[in-house]
Amino acid sequence: MSILIKNGRVITADADYTADIFIEGETVKAIGMDLPFNADEIIDASGMLVFPGGIDPHVHLDMPFMGTYSSDNYETGTRAALFGGTTMVIDFILQKQGNTLQAALDEWRLRSDNNCVGDYSFHMAVTDFNDSTKKEIRHFIEDEGITSFKTFMAYKGALMIDDRQMVGLMEEVKKCGGLINVHATNGDMIDYLTQKHRSEGKLSPLYHYLSQPEVTEAEASERFVDMANFTGCPGYIVHLTCEGALNAVRNATRRNQHVFVETCIQYLILDASLYEKDFDGAKWVMSPPLREKKDQETLWAGINQGLVNVVATDHCPFMWEQKKMGEKDFSKIPNGHPAIENRMELLYSEGVAKNRITLNKYVEVACTNPAKIFGMFPQKGTIGIGSDADLVIFDPNEKHILSAKTHHMNVDYSGYEGWEVTGKVKIVLLRGKVAIESNECKIEKGFGKFIKRKKLSQTI
Ligand SMILES: [Zn+2]
Repeated sequence: MSILIKNGRVITADADYTADIFIEGETVKAIGMDLPFNADEIIDASGMLVFPGGIDPHVHLDMPFMGTYSSDNYETGTRAALFGGTTMVIDFILQKQGNTLQAALDEWRLRSDNNCVGDYSFHMAVTDFNDSTKKEIRHFIEDEGITSFKTFMAYKGALMIDDRQMVGLMEEVKKCGGLINVHATNGDMIDYLTQKHRSEGKLSPLYHYLSQPEVTEAEASERFVDMANFTGCPGYIVHLTCEGALNAVRNATRRNQHVFVETCIQYLILDASLYEKDFDGAKWVMSPPLREKKDQETLWAGINQGLVNVVATDHCPFMWEQKKMGEKDFSKIPNGHPAIENRMELLYSEGVAKNRITLNKYVEVACTNPAKIFGMFPQKGTIGIGSDADLVIFDPNEKHILSAKTHHMNVDYSGYEGWEVTGKVKIVLLRGKVAIESNECKIEKGFGKFIKRKKLSQTI
């Protein structure tokens, strides 16, 4: 099977030109002007932008939580991602405290394998680091192709590890050639503030926000960066939201340290005033919470300064009925919001169309950097000869409205209901196959492939 995409404006992290792209099988075979190839299918991309497939390195599909599961499973979540131009996701496996990493991987595979429409990989969340966990790290990196290990400095009593475990894990991960991801917020402080608000009868979603002030994130980010510096282990801060936390990273650069930083689309464009809408604010209850306008400015600037490297989603949807578990107590609201389908279009509309970031920067933070940081470049994350033919054909001018009525995520509300966005995903190719066309998904579950990742080797 071969496809010739004609006359598209090809955008990568460092190039911008009009060309034809010839695809044979799963990969790009040639790029150039007026390519003289016959193909089984010809796609006219005149007037369109052609991006590499988006990579969302932070999603939670079919995630067990308080006796229920996040409402998108691997099929609905990866399909919705494709509709929005994201061809690959990295999901999180959660180790159960007292159990092995392998047991968690086995459990996650039962839910994910043969169920994904788009490509996928996993980060391994280490919630219990001890001598036996330590022995499993090398196997994950070298044999399973899972090279990144997630840690939580919060969620005390469930997911949180202490600094002793963090330093031990960092030493082992560095030795084996991997990377530590961190949820960097101060779990003890948040625990204290949460209990304090509850005991005072302050139970609305607003108090979720007030229990996680900026300092809880700034302090933990600084501590994480210091421990990464001490051990020499590569570090990646997930969902960084605020000025204080980014300043911790900025300070680290003054001693020649580099820590990777991810933010999420919602932190760039939504703010904490949404928590003032009584229980409706539960739609945006996530951790860390939405911040303030000044933090949005910091994050956009951070992208342009090269301090913020990735824009992800932390997609973790729950139906409104599930959110209502916390109607009388904010601490019982399942954390997370749906965005896997909206990230690429929102970032284009709010970022590129509003002149906050360039087209090249857009591709860099949404496609290329995730591939480089997580060991998939240049197979993924760019448009190049020999790379997987994961491509998005995008109309930069078409305006449309985001709504739960039309989205493909399995969740009955949208965090962006009624938003008008400029720019629309028209056609998506995944490994040389047309996946999305005319608002329809053309591939089935099981097409999505688990992508084994390489040891960390790229700098960005
Ligand atoms: Zn998350």
